[in-house]
Amino acid sequence: TQRIPGVVVSWKTGLRQTVTMEARRCNSVLVTGSNRGIGLELVRQLAESANPPSQIFAGCRDPAGPRAKDLNDLAQKHSKRITIFPLDTADPVSIKEASRVVGSKLADGSLNLLINNAAINGPRTLQETGLKEMVEGYVTNVVGPMLIVKEFLPFLQRAAAQPGSGAGRSCSMPAIINVSTLLASMEKCHETFSLAPMYSYRTSKAALNMLTCCLAEDFKKDGILVTAIHPGWVQTDMGGPEAPVATVDSVSGMLRVISSLTAKHSGTLLDWEGNRIPW
Ligand code: NDP
Repeated sequence: TQRIPGVVVSWKTGLRQTVTMEARRCNSVLVTGSNRGIGLELVRQLAESANPPSQIFAGCRDPAGPRAKDLNDLAQKHSKRITIFPLDTADPVSIKEASRVVGSKLADGSLNLLINNAAINGPRTLQETGLKEMVEGYVTNVVGPMLIVKEFLPFLQRAAAQPGSGAGRSCSMPAIINVSTLLASMEKCHETFSLAPMYSYRTSKAALNMLTCCLAEDFKKDGILVTAIHPGWVQTDMGGPEAPVATVDSVSGMLRVISSLTAKHSGTLLDWEGNRIPW
């Protein structure tokens, strides 16, 4: 079994949920867009799990701003474990600098888990969507994750080269998680379109899915997994208050899925409960 006694009690469902990062040997994790929503909850649950990673790098585009207060409070509680660092995923200079800063702090120069979570959604209808909105969506949701992977790859490769990683033990392979969405599934478009047309968001996330496939193929030789995960429709600023899934439940589900990934899941899109979503 891949369960350990890290327990989160959902305030929405009252269910006790077991969160584990034990199956995935996880000394160091990086999360982008970690000052609110799913990113903040990822950092919280990672830090508060029974077997927490020794180093959690929390990327945030304005660490000193008012929107980073919750993250700063959390980091203060776990000051030995959580390091906040500035990262604007739409800015290549910021990404390069972030890789320098994080690289200098990684205990053994290796990163086990990179979660590309930061994203923007953009307008709802075709009429509201123009060049600017399409480009902004693409830059933040596709180019950002691509450049982040490129800049942090040496650290993931170092993790992959450590004894015990890969080679028949795929659950301890380093992993890249691209947070995607059901709305990017072309096969499901006829079911989801009327709920949320969102041209910029859907097309950029569909491109993120292709990026996931390309990276998964590319990094097979390195022993690095690359998987896209749909967090569900979640109660965050992006998901809105009417979303059916509480952030705490989505994130505990995602962490459970991440902890049980093996080589066969690389290059796939899974939901927060581990179900395969068609492209
Ligand atoms: P939120 O809008 O609540 O939070 C988005 C996060 O991304 C914020 O921390 C925001 O930072 C950050 N961000 C946006 N642009 C940048 C940037 N250029 N540089 C750095 N950080 C940035 O979204 P969620 O938490 O709901 O979404 C997290 C992920 O889950 C996204 O990838 C989203 O597409 C995906 N998702 C969410 C769903 C939902 O229902 N909520 C459904 C399906 C997928 P800042 O505060 O600085 O703006």
